[in-house]
Amino acid sequence: MIFQPKNAGSMLCTAVLLLPMRAEADLLCPGTLVTARAPAESAVEERICAVVVEAAAQLNTCGLPITRPVQILVIDGSLGDGCVGLYHCGEDLIEVLAPDRLEANRSRDGIFDAVPTDRFFDSIIVHELAHAAHDALPCPSGLCLATSEYLAYNSQIMSLEPDDQRAVMARIDMEETVKHDEVNAAILFFKPNVFAARAWAHLNQRDDPCEYLRHVANGVFTFDRERP
Ligand SMILES: [Zn+2]
Repeated sequence: MIFQPKNAGSMLCTAVLLLPMRAEADLLCPGTLVTARAPAESAVEERICAVVVEAAAQLNTCGLPITRPVQILVIDGSLGDGCVGLYHCGEDLIEVLAPDRLEANRSRDGIFDAVPTDRFFDSIIVHELAHAAHDALPCPSGLCLATSEYLAYNSQIMSLEPDDQRAVMARIDMEETVKHDEVNAAILFFKPNVFAARAWAHLNQRDDPCEYLRHVANGVFTFDRERP
């Protein structure tokens, strides 16, 4: 239940007194190294943990095990211009916009625009978890920006329910062959939506997408260097 201070009766006043104690502790997601903290929003913490438990298994299967403790903080404010989720490199820290903030601030012209906000929120958690998992792995080419986003966007779309995945793919030309060089840092910086669309089409043009992600995660393939 979400606490509503304006309706506080005597029972809820007890909850007011207990609230600061609860808010100090992060919720440890069962069977994982991930914790969630959403000030005064235990239902959001529980939602995040449900996503984390499922995502951890999927990420592990495709080469992105979560091997270090990761903290997820829900931000009831702003993460900066157009940003709905953020992984802090080297800090094992993820920040995500609170669901109601996300509803108010999400882009309406991207490939995810047909995905309902609650499930879009879930998919952002997966996106940032993929970054966290990849951050713990070596980056043999020395620069892994586009490579990390390739893993993150693909893990995010892969985690969507079939209906939502179909809605995303309806905005992507899945038939046009995407060359390796077309998934790069320049398109990531200038047109992140195009990058995400190309990444998903490119991955789905591989024989075994999950195996391919394992190779990308392990540094066998990179999207951060020009290929000859
Ligand atoms: Zn990202």
